[in-house]
Amino acid sequence: TSAFLSVRDLYVHFDTEDGTVKAVDGLSFDVERGRTLGIVGESGSGKSVTNLSILGLHNPRTTDVSGKILLDGQELTGAREKTLESLRGNKMAMIFQDALTALSPYYTIGRQIAEPYRKHMGVSKREAHLRAVEMLDKVGIPNPKTRVHDYPHQFSGGMRQRAMIAMALVCNPDLLIADEPTTALDVTVQAQILDLLKDLQQEFGSAIVFITHDLGVIANVADDILVMYGGRAVERGTVGEVLRSPEHPYTWGLLTSMPRLTGDVNEELSPIHGTPPSLLSPPPGCPFHPRCGYQDEVAGRSCTGDRPLLPHGRGSACHLTAEQKRTFFIEQIKPR
Ligand code: SF4
Ligand code: MG
Repeated sequence: TSAFLSVRDLYVHFDTEDGTVKAVDGLSFDVERGRTLGIVGESGSGKSVTNLSILGLHNPRTTDVSGKILLDGQELTGAREKTLESLRGNKMAMIFQDALTALSPYYTIGRQIAEPYRKHMGVSKREAHLRAVEMLDKVGIPNPKTRVHDYPHQFSGGMRQRAMIAMALVCNPDLLIADEPTTALDVTVQAQILDLLKDLQQEFGSAIVFITHDLGVIANVADDILVMYGGRAVERGTVGEVLRSPEHPYTWGLLTSMPRLTGDVNEELSPIHGTPPSLLSPPPGCPFHPRCGYQDEVAGRSCTGDRPLLPHGRGSACHLTAEQKRTFFIEQIKPR
């Protein structure tokens, strides 16, 4: 039996003038209905690309996607554009960081929520309009009967984000992909939006993939975590496991550099000295080795030669022993 969303050995490679960019390099994960998987990593870790390929939104002329993506048993890799288009907005939907990329300035908010509903559900214009009002009410827009006639520019940033969520959820998608959906918002609105997503998930039972560089947000919304680095998953587990006893040196770096709640949540931190790996010519062995201070502790394996693999359940892609993973993290967080 396979999970509701099942990704297996996903590779996403782009052709560029400089060579092949290995944006996602062998990735597997599952998401069940009613659960939220948080994918965390720095820019360029492959987290957004993964989700664009799930939705089939990559450019097929320059992008080579291989592996298996199964949604409710249906194969999405290699599916026809027509099939993907009918799945998007109906069975799966996406929330972006910037609502203005999803909303058109030329149509009213109401029309943009009602249209996909009418198209996918085959209902009348009037019914779709009433549904748009209902959705605006659900996402907490005041006076929805009036505001449904507004254009995006008449909404504040936080309200536009809510309207985009209404648009994404109007057809009760089974899978919702949220890519940094709250990064541009202030902390209060951010918290409201996250609460809203949790409520809507309870109501609709959707599976959610939540992409962010912010572990604080992950702690708040996710059930499970996948940590990505250089196009590969380096650690997975439940939120409790990964946040309480992280195993991978990269995750340690992410955790110890987490801004306090009052800190600037919009800042994309570079938690560990050094730069993310080149996706054109990834380092051999462990992709984290140029930035890792624990290579000398590894016995019997080479961090620069042997690629560590990520197990399917709880675990991390690192050659350190289980005992070392426990003790080194504790040493790192001890106050000096
Ligand atoms: Fe560091 Fe080696 Fe573990 Fe990679 S495999 S994270 S380089 S100790
Ligand atoms: Mg991104």
